[in-house]
Amino acid sequence: MTVQRGVGYNASRFCAGREDEPALEVSDMMDEMKQLSVVIPVYNEHESLTQLHKALHDALGSLDIPWEIVYVDDGSTDESLQVLTVLAEADVEHTRVVGLRRNFGQTAAIAAGLDYAQGDVIVLMDADMQNDPADIPMMIEKMAEGYDVVSGWRKNRQDKFITRTLPSRIANGIISWVTGVRLHDYGCTLKAYRREVITGFRLYGEMHRFIPAYAGYVGARILEVPVRHHPRKFGKTKYGLERTLKVILDLLTVKFLISYGHKPNYLFGGPGLAMMGMGSVLLLFLVVRRVMTLVSVFESPFFPISLMLIIMGFQAILMGLIAELQVRTYYEAQRKPTYTVRRALNVAGPR
Ligand code: UDP
Ligand code: MG
Repeated sequence: MTVQRGVGYNASRFCAGREDEPALEVSDMMDEMKQLSVVIPVYNEHESLTQLHKALHDALGSLDIPWEIVYVDDGSTDESLQVLTVLAEADVEHTRVVGLRRNFGQTAAIAAGLDYAQGDVIVLMDADMQNDPADIPMMIEKMAEGYDVVSGWRKNRQDKFITRTLPSRIANGIISWVTGVRLHDYGCTLKAYRREVITGFRLYGEMHRFIPAYAGYVGARILEVPVRHHPRKFGKTKYGLERTLKVILDLLTVKFLISYGHKPNYLFGGPGLAMMGMGSVLLLFLVVRRVMTLVSVFESPFFPISLMLIIMGFQAILMGLIAELQVRTYYEAQRKPTYTVRRALNVAGPR
């Protein structure tokens, strides 16, 4: 994976899966951006919404592409939905509000926002004014240069060090190492995406933070840029340290999907074969020893161990085969391609 220093913002560039990706070409920069959607999950943030909305208008007003803001009220129990309704009525052109029936969590709220957003460029951000809408035009500018993901990095993070910043640094290190997409700040929600590099990633659990890893996996060009970060002035955070555990479990899932989602039998079958091999060698050793020295096979503690290894290995291989069937159902029932296309010339499209 290459890590290059970009121009301006002292940004690093990450090209997942390619050893020496050439510099962006002019033709790569021509991907037109037709509409921008800013997707914002909202859970009990009524104090910040009006100010946030104004800041968004100030920032987005200068853009030369059409834009919309999609607020998803995630079952707030305060006045958030009322405030959003007022904002939506006053600004039908730019403001969408989707109110969920109950609190489904930030990831589900983001998924809902993506479903309702019309834009081909999506900016995700928090509603709490810790992210700064003023960074969005700079991020869109970078997208126009040909990046598929522009990832915000809270270089100067304004949160408690021990409970927030430190665990987050460790988590970022682990996620970068495991997924191979090296980012300083997976936790920062403020990121811009071309829609086509994130469609196909279904969001479950706490997985929104892994969207960049998925994008890297489908071949997106990712740029990381420092963004502003402010202390939380309104409301309070919805998370504590327990989130770390969920993140680790989600990381396991994401790693599995990214590395073995197409070929689960490599994961199950490899260890399965190894276990069967070890078990067989052990058993063979016991039999040979019986023949040469008359030491009983059945009395040796290695006998049940060898059987267990063989049975477990066999089971693992079977599990891998079942998983292979599932993969086929998944891709073929929905005719999902197992590849992603950046650009196709002179073709009528896949049949
Ligand atoms: N959020 C949400 N549903 C939830 C929890 C949070 O929609 O169940 C929203 C919240 O309103 C905010 C964003 O997700 O816009 C991030 O939440 P928070 O600021 O509490 O997380 P932190 O920035 O502290 O990690
Ligand atoms: Mg926040």
